[in-house]
Amino acid sequence: MKAYVGPDGEVRLFRPDLNMARMRRSADRVALPVPFDTDALLTLIQRLVELESRWIPNIQGYSLYLRPTIIGTRPNLGVTASDHALLYVICSPAGPYFRAGSARQISLLANGDVVRSWPGGTGGYKLALNYAPTLKPQQLAELQGYNQVLWLLDGKITEAGAMNFFAVIQQDENNWDIITPPLDGTILPGVTRDSCIALSAAHPSRTILPHLPETLRLHAHERTLAMSDLKQWYEEGRLLEAFTVGTAVVVTGVGRIGYEGKDIVLPEHASGRGPVARALYERIVTIQEGKFEWEDWSVVCKSA
Ligand SMILES: *Cc1c(COP(=O)(O)O)cnc(C)c1O
Repeated sequence: MKAYVGPDGEVRLFRPDLNMARMRRSADRVALPVPFDTDALLTLIQRLVELESRWIPNIQGYSLYLRPTIIGTRPNLGVTASDHALLYVICSPAGPYFRAGSARQISLLANGDVVRSWPGGTGGYKLALNYAPTLKPQQLAELQGYNQVLWLLDGKITEAGAMNFFAVIQQDENNWDIITPPLDGTILPGVTRDSCIALSAAHPSRTILPHLPETLRLHAHERTLAMSDLKQWYEEGRLLEAFTVGTAVVVTGVGRIGYEGKDIVLPEHASGRGPVARALYERIVTIQEGKFEWEDWSVVCKSA
């Protein structure tokens, strides 16, 4: 999670309720002592952010990165659930994921030989154990000249690196499908993912997203996304954009996807993002900084 300073000097958290609920579900999945009081934890985090707010650079794109963590501390060598736990929050100033001026579309390598998650596994929970096995495939993707792994499961796209994945498919000029895989247990339920689905579905009926025409209808779908579908849409010229989302990057455009020895090459954009990715990025950032009000997504940190 991150805390952002707006031009009004106020410090805000973005949808912290979703973050707290996810932490509780994740702790429960590994039998850590829950329930802890998520409202009390959020109050403590708000106080912490207030105390440390001088560390947040008041520059667009900068924030205070927050990592609430819970670890088992039972003094035992056996394979048993921990009946003791330590819950702590670390924080650090954070800059934009990509340096100013280096906005670029990332490249992904679709790799069917390794999996990040599987049915009934822990991929749908934010657990440290999910990440270590991804580091070696990540190194191998880099050696082949790609930025991140595009994770597949039986040929279906799950996620990209540690980010959720979206594709934009053209039905016709005025109707675009925004597709992301469903939360079937193999996908991390990202806060940014949920926000992108909600904002896409709101255009143009409830809001007009930045730079997108009012005549364009975005149709958001959570549905299975096979690599073969993506390839077919690409060959038909209907794959308009792909992008990845998460708290660290917000929304990043994809420029190239390696698959079975060939590259799917997406149109280049000066801003580093296609029209939908750019619209979602700009809208989410303005909500995070308190410049645009949307439901109760932006929560100001104030002591009780
Ligand atoms: C954290 C994470 C995401 C993004 O979730 P956000 O809540 O949007 O930050 C996506 N995929 C994985 C595997 C993650 O760990």
